Amino acid sequence: MIAPQATETRHWRFHTDLEKIGWLTINTPESSVNTLSREAIMELETLVARFEDLAGSDELAGVVILSGKDSGFIAGADVSEFDAMSDFSVLPEALRRTHALFARIESLPVPVVAGIHGFCLGGGLELALACHYRIAVNDEKTRIGFPEVNLGIFPGFGGTGRSIRQAGPVDAMGIMLTGKMLRAGAARGLNLVDKLVRHRDQLRWEGRKAVLARKKSSPAPAIKKAAALPLVREAIANQMRKQAGRKARKEHYPAPYALIDLFEKHGNDWRAMIRGEVDAFVPLMGSPTATNLRRVFFLSEGLKKQGLKGAKFSRVHVIGAGVMGGDIAAWCAYRGMSVTLQDLDMERIKPALDRAKKLFSKRYKKKREVDAAMLRLVADPKGTGVSRADVIIEAVVEKLEIKQKIFSGIEDRLKPGAILATNTSSIELERIAEALKDPARLIGLHFFNPVAQLPLVEVIRSTFNTDEEIGKGASFAQAIGKSPVVVKSAPGFLVNRVLMPYMLGAVERVEKGESKELLDAAAVAFGMPMGPIELMDTVGLDVGKSVATELGHDIPADSKFARLIAEGKLGRKTGEGFYKWEKGKAQKGETPSHPDLAGLGKELVKPLVDMTEVVVAEGVVASPELADIGVIMGTGFAPFLGGPMKARADGRA
Ligand code: NAD
Repeated sequence: MIAPQATETRHWRFHTDLEKIGWLTINTPESSVNTLSREAIMELETLVARFEDLAGSDELAGVVILSGKDSGFIAGADVSEFDAMSDFSVLPEALRRTHALFARIESLPVPVVAGIHGFCLGGGLELALACHYRIAVNDEKTRIGFPEVNLGIFPGFGGTGRSIRQAGPVDAMGIMLTGKMLRAGAARGLNLVDKLVRHRDQLRWEGRKAVLARKKSSPAPAIKKAAALPLVREAIANQMRKQAGRKARKEHYPAPYALIDLFEKHGNDWRAMIRGEVDAFVPLMGSPTATNLRRVFFLSEGLKKQGLKGAKFSRVHVIGAGVMGGDIAAWCAYRGMSVTLQDLDMERIKPALDRAKKLFSKRYKKKREVDAAMLRLVADPKGTGVSRADVIIEAVVEKLEIKQKIFSGIEDRLKPGAILATNTSSIELERIAEALKDPARLIGLHFFNPVAQLPLVEVIRSTFNTDEEIGKGASFAQAIGKSPVVVKSAPGFLVNRVLMPYMLGAVERVEKGESKELLDAAAVAFGMPMGPIELMDTVGLDVGKSVATELGHDIPADSKFARLIAEGKLGRKTGEGFYKWEKGKAQKGETPSHPDLAGLGKELVKPLVDMTEVVVAEGVVASPELADIGVIMGTGFAPFLGGPMKARADGRA
């Protein structure tokens, strides 16, 4: 008998115990998450050869794969290698090599069990699916899925075929096409996982039991597989194309369509599906869409690295319980902070609490979580929360004197080091700060409406601020799950400044008689999530007008725009603006045909891109990259183009 011994590579640690169970732990060096880099895969090749030898000489009862990281199992392939891997001379070979490795794992004569906690995504899930049995921790942190479509690709390590084998074609394609991350229970429901445990500590014990019992997962039942039969499969593929078309156009995001084609060809044979992966995958990886989406991914990851290390926030005080203040307070409570919410009286706070309850009920599964969040959000008409708060956010009416009075009134009561922030959209920060004894304290935290849905927070820097206040502001935005972009205090900051000329340009065309439906369709054909007129209705014509005026744009009194406002037709919120609105949907008339919709869209978007260039040139944001990610997050600007600056550099905007 070979004595138990350990093998350690840079990424893996392997040892067998006295029961001949092999314990394989992945621990990516210098990283908080595990990724399947080329190096990790090559090391695994050597280890799998060892498993084959040990199993051949009866020295291995099975292998349990675990993660050494708190963050989870494996978060995916290493995206930082994707640019280099996009090379046609390298990628097919690399994919085939990984396919061969995973097939060898699957062919081992002893059971291989994956013990999953936390993130098990992309390549990590593909490795887990090549194991014979999967156990996952059923807690809040476990997330299982294929986020590849968000990077302009689809699973390339055999995950297409193996997920279909396990979950059946409809469910497997559903998770691959949406990039949805499943909780452990849902993954169990789809047969992507075989067993659930409550705690990470139980993975070893259950892994051991699974090996000794030679557990092997069963594939999806025949009834599920029927969806992949010829004819049915074609009909389902067409259905999927239709659904994909509602979300993204093929010319912008080709990956979902390529995956559906692959399914239509091979969906009834999971092995053929895996073999077909390589040819379909390779052209996607080097496509402009995937290249730009990777750039967007890294830019947004970069935003998470800003801020002050170690800054902690637990109490937030919000002044002003209107549209913004109420929703900011609710969001902070949703993200686990204790929040006090102040307004002139209880009646003005009540609607905000009702909205908060709706948000919590929508987002939380359990009533007790909703109740706990409601307890974290406290109405505070007297403002007693100020002196204990780590963060104070003012969101009262847009009037300089009122804001100044509020800040000077509370300055002496603040906790040392507390963040003092205004959510103003248009007042120069310096002018509000002048009312303070220490004007350096005041920063801007500019949230977007609706707060719960929009990920961006502009952290506004005045000439008085130091890096410390700004760093704290960025850390706080991250602490509540938002993405901070630091912007200088200048009218319109970044997002409103670039949006306004675009929206007003479109409004002007409508004033001159062009079809609003056509303009909106053109912007969408270009790649915007919503057309400019529909956006104006959504933002609210009154809000649009006040931002426009603030930025020096003239709204003629005899314009349709001014008339609509005068008639109280403010857009979606009043049921009518440029469009009539029913059940949250703009009621659109027929769209006239146009020979080059996307070309017209490009023309419409030009003022936005021009203004982004101006904003970068003026130093309002620190770099073109930050402008790109800020505009993508703040306006939904076509991510597949990589942002306005990148699109302009590529001659695409
Ligand atoms: P709102 O009118 O809905 O709410 C303002 C609230 O402030 C009201 O409830 C009012 O009673 C309260 N208030 C007034 N004076 C007060 C005082 N002295 N003490 C306590 N509360 C007081 O306004 P809103 O749309 O929520 O805007 C608030 C701020 O957020 C403004 O500075 C605005 O520029 C900014 N903002 C608005 C949006 C938007 O889309 N609405 C987006 C980003 C930023």
